[in-house]
Amino acid sequence: MSHDCLFCKIAHHEIPAKVVFEDDEFIAFHDINPAAPVHLLLVPKHHVGSLADIGTNDGAWLARMMQLVPRLAFENGANPLPAGGFRMVANAGLEGGQEVDHLHFHILGGARPWNKRAAPAA
Ligand code: 5GP
Ligand code: ZN
Repeated sequence: MSHDCLFCKIAHHEIPAKVVFEDDEFIAFHDINPAAPVHLLLVPKHHVGSLADIGTNDGAWLARMMQLVPRLAFENGANPLPAGGFRMVANAGLEGGQEVDHLHFHILGGARPWNKRAAPAA
């Protein structure tokens, strides 16, 4: 654990969050400033800076993390495929838009009127 790291502190329940899922390896919670009707953050409990720090030994837990993405999206309000769906985003570095230096997947879903291809049936 990194003592200066916001998501390490959330993972260890030192800072509160609206947690929707937790196991030994991962924690998922609502983004404090949601950019979509569903906006979760999925975080490994051990400290990893970003995807740029992933190595050849990280494949197994990373696959487990990715398998959680559709499950958490649909369990937390993303609409079913094919009309619904979700988006997963991982920012890395300043130019990548990363603000918190602990690997996290944004899981975004829900109706978004500006998404032209996902116009709901009237
Ligand atoms: P990044 O820009 O690093 O990819 O995403 C960081 C995300 O963390 C942002 O979407 C931001 O709203 C969210 N965030 C920042 N501080 C907190 C916090 O204290 N609690 C929660 N739940 N989300 C946070
Ligand atoms: Zn951390």
